[in-house]
Amino acid sequence: MKTTEKKRGARVEQFTPAEQRSARAARVKVFEAEPYGWIAQSESGVERGYHLFRDPDTRALACTCADFIFRGNAEPGYECKHVAAVLKFIARQYLRFEYDPRRQMSRVA
Ligand SMILES: [Zn+2]
Repeated sequence: MKTTEKKRGARVEQFTPAEQRSARAARVKVFEAEPYGWIAQSESGVERGYHLFRDPDTRALACTCADFIFRGNAEPGYECKHVAAVLKFIARQYLRFEYDPRRQMSRVA
């Protein structure tokens, strides 16, 4: 029994903090917010939803959760699990509705 527990602990440590956040981000639901931005909510529904928006200065996503506010100050470019989930959501929307391979080709040429 004890060996199994040890093994499991070792396996968890192989994931970097960013990878662990990305695994948790897979369980976050994303909705478009009115009048702008996005709402990210954990699937369990225990946690309240957080509002995300594009920071006008950095042009990157900003989240209203404590994790983003406190750790983001110490680590510029920090992405909480909500930011990771919204980035995936935006990418899927973009691919489905806006991506145009011709525009990409004209940029390269
Ligand atoms: Zn967040």
